[in-house]
Amino acid sequence: MKRYLSAVVFLLLAALVWRLWLAPRRHHMPAEQGAKPRVVVSGYVPYTLVKQLAADRADVSMLLPANAEPHSFEPTPGALIKVREADLFVYVSDRIEPWAKDIASGAGENTQVLQAAQYAAASDDPHVWMDFNNVKQIAKAVSAALAEKDPAHKDAYAAHLKAFDEEMTALDEAYKKGLADCQSREVVHVGHLAFKNLTKNYDLSLSALAGSSHDGEHSVRKLAELVKFIKNNHVRVIFTEETLSPRLSAAVAGETGAQVLPLYTVEHVSKRDFDQGVTYGELMRRNLESLQRGLGCQA
Ligand SMILES: [Zn+2]
Repeated sequence: MKRYLSAVVFLLLAALVWRLWLAPRRHHMPAEQGAKPRVVVSGYVPYTLVKQLAADRADVSMLLPANAEPHSFEPTPGALIKVREADLFVYVSDRIEPWAKDIASGAGENTQVLQAAQYAAASDDPHVWMDFNNVKQIAKAVSAALAEKDPAHKDAYAAHLKAFDEEMTALDEAYKKGLADCQSREVVHVGHLAFKNLTKNYDLSLSALAGSSHDGEHSVRKLAELVKFIKNNHVRVIFTEETLSPRLSAAVAGETGAQVLPLYTVEHVSKRDFDQGVTYGELMRRNLESLQRGLGCQA
C-alpha cells in the first residue's frame, strides 16, 4: 500500500513538473482566432473590472477565493499553471498582493502581465482603486490589453470602456454632491486602512484600527485609543468591513454606543455578492450610502 502511494505521489509530481517546465509553450499572440482571451486575475478588484470590461468576451478565473483577503495568501502550484497558460494576468500590485510577484515572474512568454497600480497616481495607501480617476486609468489599460489579445472584438471592448468611464464620472459627481454637506466628517473605521484615498478625495478624516494590510494585529492599545477617540468626539456611527468578523465592531459599538454600518473594500466580497456578480460601481454606491447615513449628510 505504502509503495503504491509513493508511486502515485511520484506520478503526480512528474505530471506537475511536466506541466510547469517541460510542456511546450503555446503560442497565442493574439489569442487563437475567434477564441476568448483567457484572463487570470489575482483577486476581486481586477476580477470585477475585467468582467465588466470584457462582458462575455473573456474566460476569467480568479486565484484568490472570493471571501479571502488578498494581503496574505499562499498560492498553489495550480495557480502558477493557470497563469502560465493565460493570455493575460492582471493583479493590483506587489504591495497589495506580495504573493503575486512570484506568480507573475512564472508567466508564460505569451502571457501579458498587467500590474494595475502602475496606471494609478502615486499614493502611500496601496488601495489605489479607492479613487475613481485611478480606476478609470486602470480600466483603460485593461481594455487595451483585452483588445490586443482579441482584436476582432476591439469595438465591443471600446464600448464597454466608454460605459464604465461614464459610470465612474457619475459616481465621482455623486460622491462630491452627496458628501458636501454633512454633520460630521469623521470616518471611524474598525478595520484595516483601506479608505485613505477615498476619504482624502472627499475631504473626510479617517481613523482606522489597523494598518494597510490585514495582518497588522489589532492591538489592545490601538483598540483602547479608538474607543477613547469615539467617546471624546461623540462619534455616533462606526464603519466596519463586511467580510471582517463582526465581533470586533460589536465590541466597540457596545463600549461606545455607536451604530455600525458597512464599508466595502472591494478586495474581497461575500459569497452572495460574488455569486450575483456585484460590480465595483455597485459596491461604491453602497459605500456612498453608508457614508451619507453615518455622517448625517444632506442628500
Ligand atoms: Zn486591503
